[in-house]
Amino acid sequence: MSTYRIAVIPGDGIGPEIVAEAVKVLDKVGAKFGHSFEYTYRLMGGAAYDAVGTCFPEDTVEVCQKHDAVLLGAVGGPKWDSLPGAERPEKALLKIREGLGLYANLRPAIMHKALAKACPIKPENIGDSMDLMIVRELTGGIYFGEHGWREGKYGPEAYDVERYSEMEIRRIAKVAFNAAMARGKNLVSVDKANVLEASRLWRKIVTEMAADYPEVTVSHMYVDNAAMQLVYRPNQFDVILTSNMFGDILSDEASMITGSLGMLPSASLADGTFGLYEPSHGSAPDIAGKNIANPIATIMSVSMMLRYSFGLEAEAKAIDDAVTAVLDAGLRTGDIAEAGVTPISTTEMGQAICDRI
Ligand code: NAD
Repeated sequence: MSTYRIAVIPGDGIGPEIVAEAVKVLDKVGAKFGHSFEYTYRLMGGAAYDAVGTCFPEDTVEVCQKHDAVLLGAVGGPKWDSLPGAERPEKALLKIREGLGLYANLRPAIMHKALAKACPIKPENIGDSMDLMIVRELTGGIYFGEHGWREGKYGPEAYDVERYSEMEIRRIAKVAFNAAMARGKNLVSVDKANVLEASRLWRKIVTEMAADYPEVTVSHMYVDNAAMQLVYRPNQFDVILTSNMFGDILSDEASMITGSLGMLPSASLADGTFGLYEPSHGSAPDIAGKNIANPIATIMSVSMMLRYSFGLEAEAKAIDDAVTAVLDAGLRTGDIAEAGVTPISTTEMGQAICDRI
């Protein structure tokens, strides 16, 4: 029997509710396939601030590094919005990504056939399914560049610097090329090379690397056009490679095409097999504590954990298939329920998925 050690950070808002369902699903997979999953629970975000006075307890990185993977719910909420920028829960997200070297964020956006009606795109533009992967650089660019205030031409001004090294571009592009090789062999690199110097370097490196992947069709798209093409014909995309900020925005846009933010998982990977897995959405404070959140994004995130960190493909597929079966059976949480369908709760959705594994 294999044992996998997972650091679990439920976080704030709906985080604890959706993480509990994902853990239930992992335990079901463990029982069925003969694995043991051991969990170490940690506080981060607003919950940590309330308990120990900081959103990012100092040993967070060290504890996570002693585990095989990290499962994170979501952090943040109005209760902590008035904290100074450097102390806010969202800052903890940047710190954990940087501290654990999680430079590659993989965000698949899959529209299940059963949810086609929830998709806001015209059926003739999307067909009955969509399956794309956004590979977002996660520890560089403007979110990690120099920030500051200074006296400028028109008085006080603020600035944030977009900065990328060749090394950072090369390593994330490699992840995207490999993802394209494992999928439809089509890569669109998104930048703003008509305006930004960092984007011109990005485009140069991706173009050079394309020679090493002759089977992959590579094209470049400006981010404004990509935002438009995503809602026009999302099916033209297989793998999208992009920078930290552009990926942040485009992945939320892609998620809405699938019908709900509550459906989309994500994996943030370091070199090797270590990764942090979390839903793409936030802590949804408006629905927290009501047992109505959709746990599927978090459950699909543990499927990604099994696949990318533990190499357990059959086990990951068992989760993916169970989610499809539940949706095909017409079970819906409130965010994806069509008119006339009575929504089920977070715990009922988690149980329904366990029952089909
Ligand atoms: P959000 O993703 O939390 O919510 C946006 C909308 O989607 C809300 O109406 C919410 O109810 C709904 N929603 C989100 N997840 C859902 C789910 N699983 N099931 C059903 N409905 C769901 O975004 P927001 O409202 O902009 O942010 C709320 C808080 O979360 C803020 O403090 C923000 O900073 C934080 N946040 C955290 C993360 C993270 O932890 N990775 C990411 C984004 C936002």
